Parts: sequence; C-alpha cells; structure tokens
Amino acid sequence: MVELKRNPTRSVRIGSITIGAEHPIAAQSMTATHTQDVAATVDQANALHAAGAGVVRIAVDSKKDAAALEAIRAGTPANLAIDLQENYRLALDVAPHVDKLRYNPGHLYHHEPTKPWQEKVKFIAGVAGDHDCALRVGVNCGSVDPAKKEQFAEHDSIGPMLASAMEHCELLDSLGFTRYAVSLKDSDPQKVIEVNRRFAELRPDVPLHLGVTEAGMPPDGIIKTRIAFEQLISRGIGDTVRVSLTVPNSDKPQEIAAANDILADIAAGRVRSVVDYGLASLNIISCPSCSRVENEAFIELAKHVKEMTTYAKDHAITIAVMGCRVNGPGETDDADLGLWCGPTHVNLKKRSTELGAFAYDAILPRLREELDKIIAERA
Ligand code: SF4
Repeated sequence: MVELKRNPTRSVRIGSITIGAEHPIAAQSMTATHTQDVAATVDQANALHAAGAGVVRIAVDSKKDAAALEAIRAGTPANLAIDLQENYRLALDVAPHVDKLRYNPGHLYHHEPTKPWQEKVKFIAGVAGDHDCALRVGVNCGSVDPAKKEQFAEHDSIGPMLASAMEHCELLDSLGFTRYAVSLKDSDPQKVIEVNRRFAELRPDVPLHLGVTEAGMPPDGIIKTRIAFEQLISRGIGDTVRVSLTVPNSDKPQEIAAANDILADIAAGRVRSVVDYGLASLNIISCPSCSRVENEAFIELAKHVKEMTTYAKDHAITIAVMGCRVNGPGETDDADLGLWCGPTHVNLKKRSTELGAFAYDAILPRLREELDKIIAERA
C-alpha cells in the first residue's frame, strides 16, 4: 500500500457520513430515473446505497420533482443530495428532505437577474443552515458565469472557473457557513487536473468533490476519470468522487464500483499514468492491467520488481511497470525508470530514453543495474 497524503481539508458532514481529511474518500452517484416516479427513484437510490454510495444525488427540476422528495426520503436510508438548477428558491422546498444542496454559480444569474448573486447565496446558505444540510458549490466548465468569462482571455477556461469558486468560498466563509465542498468539473481530464490543483493550492482547507463530466461509456469513461483521479488523489487532493458513466439505469451502481476500484488501485500504486505520490521513498507503480495486457507474465514481473527493489526503498525514485504497447511507451516517459511489456520482451526506459528490449527472464538484473546507477548519480 502507498501511504496517501491528504490535504488538510475541513470536515463536512453530509447526513450520516463526513468528508474531509480525517475521513475516507466517499464515492457518490446520481439517480437517472424520473424523480416523480417515486418507486423507481427509491429503488435506484437503494441500489446505489447498497453498492456503497456515500451520497446519492437526485435531479430536481421543478416543484413537482421537489414534491416527490418527501416520499423518496421516507423510502431510503441513503444520504441524499439535490442540484438546485436556475430556480435557487427551490432550496426551500427540498432542504427539509435532503442532506446536501448543490448550486452552480453559473446558474444564479437566470432568475431575478437584478438581484445580486451574493443575496441568492445568502438565501441558499440560510436554508441549508436551517435544515441541517451541507452545500456543494458546483462549478462546471459548460456553465460558467458569463461576467466571469469576460474577465479572462477567450481560450482560458480555467481562470473563470477558479475565480468563480474562490469568490463563492469567500462569501460563504464571510457568512459563517463553512459546511461546504467545491467541485470544478470539465469533460477534459487534463483540465480537471489543472483546475483542481490550482484551487487546492489556494484553498487547501476546502473539501473537493472530483469528477469528469460526460466521461462516456465504460471502459473509456472509467479510464478518463481514472487518469484525473490518479493525478489528484495521489497529491492529497479530493475528498469525495463521482465517476459519471453512460450506462443503462439498472447498471448505475457500476459508478460506485468503478469509483471504489479506482480509489483502491491508487492506494495500492496500481495506476495507469505515472504518479508522484510526493513521498521521499521509492515509488513503484504498475498499471491496474486490462484486456490489453500482452503477456500474463506482466503480473508476475510487477511483483518481482517490487521485491527486487526493496533495497532502494529510501530513495525517491519512481519505477513504472506497464502492461502493453498501447499506453506503455507514452505513460512511462515521466518515470525515472519505466518498463512496458510486449508479447515476448520487456522494454526498458530511463525517462523518455529507450534502453532496449529484454526477455522476461533477463529484465530484472538489467533494471537493477540502472537503478544502482541512478542511486550512485544522486549520492
Ligand atoms: S497500460 Fe495497457 S495493459 Fe495496463 S491498464 Fe493501461 S491499457 Fe491496460
């Protein structure tokens, strides 16, 4: 197991769970049923809860949806969250029945356009406080406040998201409401990594909800999300996660299973991208393996690399072991030493420099030689 550091985020209770540095990272998901179909929504909330969802989000777009919440609440022990869309005043109708309200800063401009957004946030925070709800400030690349966008260059999608999240945190803090998390989502995993890293640098105390929007169908949707989570969670960023997958309704619990698999893999160093856990010790990472593995010997090899290199455990060196030629060559570029496994040979690299291909039974001594060299160079 890798020792996962966490940013010193504050504790935020959402119903029966708490997120933040002192607590495990919680997986969450969302129902895809018609909210007014109470029986179907309760069934799905219960299926997600049974799969291990810490929080289940329900879409509420109208007064009628809101009216269904009381019965849904009565039918499930899941911690419930809802999205406030344009109509922020719906908070009053839904808060008595749920544990968390999510609002999108980019949606606060539509209703009552002459009213300052600060007053609307004050209203939402007041309702959340009165009804024992947490809040999520959910910033989304597709719906950033136009006034914020104008302050940044046209190609800069990160700046407006960041500025929007920051000003909402400042306002909530000034109102004395600190029971909130933030999310900064995009469909591009690289942007998700960058915007969350920058936010976490500015506000390491605020819990982050991680997710990649429109990730798509498995396995691609899971891989996209995995890359973002690997780079963030390995650096201590992220307190709750959602893997958004395009799957039939009955398969929604897959989102929770995928999230928990990714979290377990990151904690065990089974990562698909080269990850620096920020530790002053040897960092061995191996891909989680998938149908692309070209030689089953890869699994054994990853184990042997771990055993053989224990003598170097106090050196801050990253060794990556990848299972195929599709991602191996590119993904090993950032490792001090990289191995990617083909059908008959293992390719050895020192950063982006190729050192040659070796038979499976010849690679370990060769790896040791290179490892010794790096240790000597850095001595
Ligand atoms: S490196 Fe290749 S084998 Fe390993 S998880 Fe990625 S695609 Fe699959």
